[in-house]
Amino acid sequence: MTKTVYLDNNATTRVAPEVVEEMLPYFHDLYGNPSSMHFFGGQVNRRVEDAREKVAALLGAKPDEIIFTSCGTESDNASIMGTLDRYPEKRHFVTTRVEHPAVWNLCPYLRSKDYRITELSVDHNGQLDLEELKSVIGDDTALVSIMYANNETGVIFPIDAIGEIVKARGIPFHTDAVQAVGKIPLDMSKQPIDMLSLSGHKLHAPKGIGVLYLRRGTKFSPLMKGGHQEKGRRGGTENVPYIVGLGKAAEAARANMEEENTRIQTLRDRMEKGLVESIPNTIVNGDTANRLPNTSSVCFEYVEGESILMMLDEVGVCASSGSACTSGSLEPSHVLRAMGVPFTAAHGSIRLSLSIYNKDEEVDHLLKHMPPIIENLRGISPFWKDFKEGKMPAAFAG
Ligand code: PLP
Repeated sequence: MTKTVYLDNNATTRVAPEVVEEMLPYFHDLYGNPSSMHFFGGQVNRRVEDAREKVAALLGAKPDEIIFTSCGTESDNASIMGTLDRYPEKRHFVTTRVEHPAVWNLCPYLRSKDYRITELSVDHNGQLDLEELKSVIGDDTALVSIMYANNETGVIFPIDAIGEIVKARGIPFHTDAVQAVGKIPLDMSKQPIDMLSLSGHKLHAPKGIGVLYLRRGTKFSPLMKGGHQEKGRRGGTENVPYIVGLGKAAEAARANMEEENTRIQTLRDRMEKGLVESIPNTIVNGDTANRLPNTSSVCFEYVEGESILMMLDEVGVCASSGSACTSGSLEPSHVLRAMGVPFTAAHGSIRLSLSIYNKDEEVDHLLKHMPPIIENLRGISPFWKDFKEGKMPAAFAG
């Protein structure tokens, strides 16, 4: 059987064995409800608070600024809806054209509720123009929500500079840091951020647990209205095993970040260099100087990303596409389109994302198999033929 080489860690990560170990007692023996008055619940409650402290330490936050949620999407929705609800007279929301659907797909909904939305553009490197940000925010801006790092390209936005611009106008600032947390250091005690979203399954905790960081004093109304859990900011009985698991994962991420991320970056850079040097017309998308250490969005011109993924799958490599297949037509990703990546390149883009579990031999495996895959696909690509003959590839023109 072909060994699995998992290079899709921005989609989800393996739950660390020590995280699973830490969680198990909370299914078997310590199954109390942390809100219960008796000792059985109380001991569980202490472990929830312990996990809160560990997550807070990873973020440089205070424990009472950590609200446990069910996922990154909930944290994004709660931040945005929970802020807009507190400023009903303000009808302007600012975000970017490259957000994850957890934010992006809220925009049509907000428009239907008579909000004016500004989606900031990005340049060819996937970077924002901060002058544009300054020019669009105004007295009726209720909230600015800008992601920390892009899930497809890994491009990191200058969040401190953005936060300063937004805060100087007295406007709340939320960042979707789902892809950044655990990969680069963050420090809420120094950074101008009011709200931040993270998701456990991107940092070796299970799927189904997230966090909303809410700076003390930030106006917010809960999305999940219910019991008094999470100091009345998120109703619902706490998912104790997952919270404990996330605490463990946060502790490990904090302890290992520097060393592991240097190793991952070295591996990622070797992978990219190998691909670019061995395959003509291969381009790395995005601002390579300001990028997550684990992420690579690579385009192989004149072939289709989906075909590459299928052929990689046959040799045991899991990656993902920069494009989504919608209603029978292949639409390149909204992120690459926003960056103005030509169709010939956007269609042939794939995302490779590494984690602490990836090894040198796995990158060697990819580097061995990728050149013949691209050569085969280009052999049957009319666009590659046109390109080689110096003609414009008509179907992708524009
Ligand atoms: N935001 C970003 C940038 C993401 O990459 C993801 C997941 O891929 C999410 C939000 C959603 O997180 P979750 O899957 O926990 O809802």
